[in-house]
Amino acid sequence: MTTDTRPTSGVSRTAVIVAQARATEDARPDRLFADPYAQSFVDAVGWIQVAEAGRLNQGHFVLRTRYFDDWFRAAAQAGCRQAVLVAAGLDTRAFRLEWPDGFRVFEIDLPGLMAFKEAVLGVRGAEPSCERTAVHADLREEWTADLLAAGFDASVPTAWLVEGLMMYLEPADNDRLARRIGSLSAPGSRLAIEHVNHAYTELPQLRAVHERLRKVGAAWRSTLEDPRGWLAGHGWTATVTPQSELAARHGRPVPELTDPERVGDARMWLVEAVRETPAPIPEST
Ligand code: SAM
Repeated sequence: MTTDTRPTSGVSRTAVIVAQARATEDARPDRLFADPYAQSFVDAVGWIQVAEAGRLNQGHFVLRTRYFDDWFRAAAQAGCRQAVLVAAGLDTRAFRLEWPDGFRVFEIDLPGLMAFKEAVLGVRGAEPSCERTAVHADLREEWTADLLAAGFDASVPTAWLVEGLMMYLEPADNDRLARRIGSLSAPGSRLAIEHVNHAYTELPQLRAVHERLRKVGAAWRSTLEDPRGWLAGHGWTATVTPQSELAARHGRPVPELTDPERVGDARMWLVEAVRETPAPIPEST
């Protein structure tokens, strides 16, 4: 692997930080999921020292991974026939989850990050457990043509996951992203997202994290106060799941930065939604 594809700076560096959380969880005897590839990504880059709040986020990264794993399983069972990992980062669900026969998984991320990912997975000889296609694209630009050219079928129900991306995009980019996803979503499609509200960005525990993200060119650029309302405006019926519920379900402590008793109104939203409307909302860019 050439070293110049390593995501050591910019927003793609954040994918390595999430992979570190998954590698740490994978090593636990009571792990909530297995990710046999996470440590390989981390080894290829070198462990990134995170500020205290980064460590505090470990619990959230783990619960959210398990939450979206379970959500994908349910989506496949409910009839989705393909999935799109929007800003896939170093997510290896295409390899580590069991998918129904013929299930297709599309992964979209920036070209540099995808090149690094393919190189590490190639060295590991990783074999996907689905029909996997990588799409190299900037999600702020036009990407739907690339997805369609890669074999995406807009006529069948799709499970879309937007995990760990929206805070890095401007509000207008997120709106455009949602319109494009909507325009490609057949009835029965599902969408899951993660985002934060403004109060979350103001948490004093996160000051050092924001400082560091700004320095590496990965500043947060948007927040969301009403995820259900925002998704309803894009044609989705949404449900928010609090981390306290996930923590109780899995016998883990509530992650400090997502515990309302400790952070008040601050929220890191975990949201799932279904599309029941027969006609997709037309995209206007
Ligand atoms: N979803 C993955 C996960 O949870 O492990 C990755 C999350 S990581 C925090 C953010 C990801 O968003 C990075 O992989 C980065 O390359 C990607 N990203 C950020 N801005 C992007 C853009 N404009 N187009 C495509 N990908 C982008």
